[in-house]
Amino acid sequence: MSTVFRCRWVLMLVCVVLAWCGAVAAQAAELFKGDELIPADAIVLFDGKDLSQWQSCDGGPAKWKVENGYMVAGGGDICSKQLFKDCQLHVEFWVPLMAEARGQGRGNSGVFLQGWNYEVQILDSYGLTPGAGDCGAIYSIAPPMVNACRPPEHWQSYDIFFRAARFDESGKKIANARMSVMQNGVWIHENVEVPRPTPGASMSDPKEPGPIRLQDHGCPVRFRNIWVRPLGGTEK
Ligand code: MG
Repeated sequence: MSTVFRCRWVLMLVCVVLAWCGAVAAQAAELFKGDELIPADAIVLFDGKDLSQWQSCDGGPAKWKVENGYMVAGGGDICSKQLFKDCQLHVEFWVPLMAEARGQGRGNSGVFLQGWNYEVQILDSYGLTPGAGDCGAIYSIAPPMVNACRPPEHWQSYDIFFRAARFDESGKKIANARMSVMQNGVWIHENVEVPRPTPGASMSDPKEPGPIRLQDHGCPVRFRNIWVRPLGGTEK
């Protein structure tokens, strides 16, 4: 076999291997979208196409822009049209790089459960020792156990398991709300008791089902692939 002939074969082999690696990488990137993980009984609140499951929290049309399979915060908070109490919620989000901004101005948004009651904070907190105002915090109540944040301009995920507060028939609270939260596949809250609503939540009744609320805090935070699964059970 001539040297030229052998080199051609080696070159072809290298091309085939590179093409295969590219295909695997593309497939992995697609898998990260998480579409295949949506449980059969989940309610899809955003599939990248439109805001049909959302409205402005004052009842008007949702104003957020939808492009390239994601939505962008802007024009006021949005609320899911459907209401929930105990639920499992999956949200993917992307925090912009806002190098000039400081503190709560860096990519602020948030995911609220049961209306305005409980916020899981979204912020650029990459590399920080997280406090109760940082990304992953149950805002003002509990900092995340670890900082699981990716750098800004990377897609991240929250999987939130929420158990609403319980009340007796007279309206007296008999059990606090509880939350477990996974960020990017890492547990950052494990069955944390939430004794009070996060600040600014006074307009929502913790006894009643409420919407999933996404915060517009003036930062162009992106969201995609949002689904929710109501959690059953008849206990008080
Ligand atoms: Mg926030």
